Amino acid sequence: LNRRLAEFGTTIFAEMSALAVRTGSINLGQGFPDTDGPEEVREAAVRALRDGRGNQYPPGPGVPELRTAVAAHQERRYGLTYDPDTEVLVTAGATEAIAAALLGLLEPGDEVVALEPYYDSYAACIAMAGGRRVPVTLRPGDGSFRLDLDELRDAVTDRTRLLLINTPHNPTGTVLTREELTAIAELAVERDLLVVTDEVYEHLVFDDAEHLPLATFPGMRERTVTIGSAGKSFSFTGWKVGWVTSTPALVSAVRSAKQFLTYVSSGPFQYAVAEALALPDAYFAAFRADMLAKRDLLAAGLAEAGFEVFRTAGTYFITTDIRPLGESDGFAFCRALPERAGVVAIPNAVFYDHREAGAPFVRFAFCKQTEVLREAAKRLKAAL
Ligand code: PMP
Ligand code: GLN
Repeated sequence: LNRRLAEFGTTIFAEMSALAVRTGSINLGQGFPDTDGPEEVREAAVRALRDGRGNQYPPGPGVPELRTAVAAHQERRYGLTYDPDTEVLVTAGATEAIAAALLGLLEPGDEVVALEPYYDSYAACIAMAGGRRVPVTLRPGDGSFRLDLDELRDAVTDRTRLLLINTPHNPTGTVLTREELTAIAELAVERDLLVVTDEVYEHLVFDDAEHLPLATFPGMRERTVTIGSAGKSFSFTGWKVGWVTSTPALVSAVRSAKQFLTYVSSGPFQYAVAEALALPDAYFAAFRADMLAKRDLLAAGLAEAGFEVFRTAGTYFITTDIRPLGESDGFAFCRALPERAGVVAIPNAVFYDHREAGAPFVRFAFCKQTEVLREAAKRLKAAL
C-alpha cells in the first residue's frame, strides 16, 4: 500500500459491520436502511432489466432519462436549473462523485477546507488527489454541533482551492443554517474558491430545519459542485447511483476523472432512479415522517440508557457523548459494546484528524425498523 493511503487502513464501516455479524449484534453502525425503498421503484428496475434497458454500457454521463430527472428534481425542489446534457453527471454513488470531483478539480498541494468530523472518504480522496486537508472542527454547544465562522475564515489561505461542505451533516446531524451558508458563500466568492457540497441527506431534515442547497446562494451556482445519492434519498444503498450537478466546465472536469474510475455507472438502476426522482412530494414527506419517528424513538432510548444525546436536525444518525456513562474513549467503547450490549455503533473519532476532539462521541444510525430500535434501546439500557 502506498504512502498516500497507508494511514487509512480498512474503513470503520467494514470493520464494524463485520463485528456486528460475528457477534450477532444489532447493527446501528453503518448507515443503511433495513427496509428497501418503494416497491414501484424496485419494479422499475426489474422492468429495465427485463426490457434490456441499460444491460450494455450506458452513455458515460448517465442515461438521458436520469439526467433529465435529476435536473427536473433540482428545479422543482430548489428552483435550480441545470441543462441535463452538459450540467448533470451520473456517478457510481455519491462516493464516486466525491472522488471524481476531487481528482478532477485539485492540483497537487492544493488545500481543501472541510468540516470536521467528516465522512471518511473525504480524507482518503483528498489524499489520492494529492491535496492537503485543512479541517475546521464543528464543536458541541447548545445541544448540537456548530460551525465557528471565524475559524472557517481563518482556515482559508492562498493555497486553498476548494471548500468541501456537507449538509445535512454526517455524523453530527447538523443542518447548516441560512446564516452559516450565507457566510460560507460570501467567503467562497471573496476568495474565489470552488465548493463541493455533499447534500446526500437533502430529503432528511426535521422539525424546523430546512435544507438549503449552497448552489442557490448568490454567486454560488457557477462555483459549486452539488452531490446527491439515490442510496440515501430512496433507500437503495446497494444500487450505487449518485449524481453531480454543476456548470458545464466543472461537470466536464468531474467527468474526466469519472471516465477512468468506472467509465460508466450500472445501467438498469439508472432508469429506475429516474422514475424515483419523479415520485410525488408525498413520498418524500412520508420518508421524512418515518425517519423522524425513528429518530425520536432512538433518541429517547439513548437518553434513557444514560448517553448525552445531540439533536439530529438532519440525516439518519444520532451523535452521543458517552461521558455521562463514565466512559471517555469512543473507540474502546464501540469495540466492547457488541459483547457488552449486543449493539454496534461507530466511534466518531474516525471522522476526525484531531482524534482527541472526537474521542467521547459515538454515532448510532436510526434507519432501522421500529422493533429493531426498541430492542437496541432495551439492550443498551440493561447493559450500561
Ligand atoms: N456522503 C455522505 C455524507 C454519506 O453519508 C454517504 C453514505 N454512504 C455518502 C456520501 C456515500 O453515498 P453513496 O452510498 O451514494 O456512495
Ligand atoms: N454513509 C454510510 C455511513 O456513514 C455508509 C458508509 C459506507 O458504508 N461507506 O454509515
